[in-house]
Amino acid sequence: MVEGLKITFLGTGTSQGIPVIGSTHPVCSSKNPKDRRLRVSVLISWNNHNFVIDCGPDFRQQMLREKVTKLDGILFTHEHADHTAGLDDIRPYFFRQGDIPIFAHERVLTSLSKRFDYIFADANRYPGAPAVKTNKIQNNNPFRIANRTAIPIEAYHNRLQVFGFRIGDFTYLTDVKTIAHEELTKIKGTKVFVVNALRIEPHHSHFNLEEALALVEELKPQKTYFTHISHHMGFHDEVEKTLPKNVHLAYDGLKVTL
Ligand SMILES: [Zn+2]
Repeated sequence: MVEGLKITFLGTGTSQGIPVIGSTHPVCSSKNPKDRRLRVSVLISWNNHNFVIDCGPDFRQQMLREKVTKLDGILFTHEHADHTAGLDDIRPYFFRQGDIPIFAHERVLTSLSKRFDYIFADANRYPGAPAVKTNKIQNNNPFRIANRTAIPIEAYHNRLQVFGFRIGDFTYLTDVKTIAHEELTKIKGTKVFVVNALRIEPHHSHFNLEEALALVEELKPQKTYFTHISHHMGFHDEVEKTLPKNVHLAYDGLKVTL
């Protein structure tokens, strides 16, 4: 039997995380744990399967915090460092399980193979280097992750193409500024929707709060969680009070089942 999905927010922060190193901004000194945000990532679990979307610089502590003993694969949204810099830390999984499946756009696979050349090397491999099994994602080509289907959803982060993913009634989009109408039809009917909302002020490559809320209004998912949040968004508890019913700011460690 295919169990329902358990979603764990591993990180909900923007590229620098919160607190930002050396920042004196009040949100960076907040004592509320919901105002501390690691780099953005989510864990999707069902039956005995665990997949993550993105693998940023906080991957190691995220896997330790959530006690993830087995990793079945990584789906990448795009190549920016806050989504990829933790790839070396798949080593413990590689030692136990062998090559770790990764799923990404061809451009992202090329970028990863330059940054982590030793992971992708065919010859003269350093003993102890991890290895991956690459899976190319193309738009309009749903792919299998264990016994489920992942539907890629194409969007744009300023001019950079990014992929979001729909798995069953769960849809995850991050680092989006624009998305075509045809892509939105793939999301319709989603129950739990996660989308980036950076801050109140507009930004060249991310939805701000107003743009994210407008998309929610159009799609009308049952529940929405905002992620990839900057300290400029404000205090979690204060922003939360201003949001419509069924729309929330995500926070690190939050778990949602569907
Ligand atoms: Zn990002």
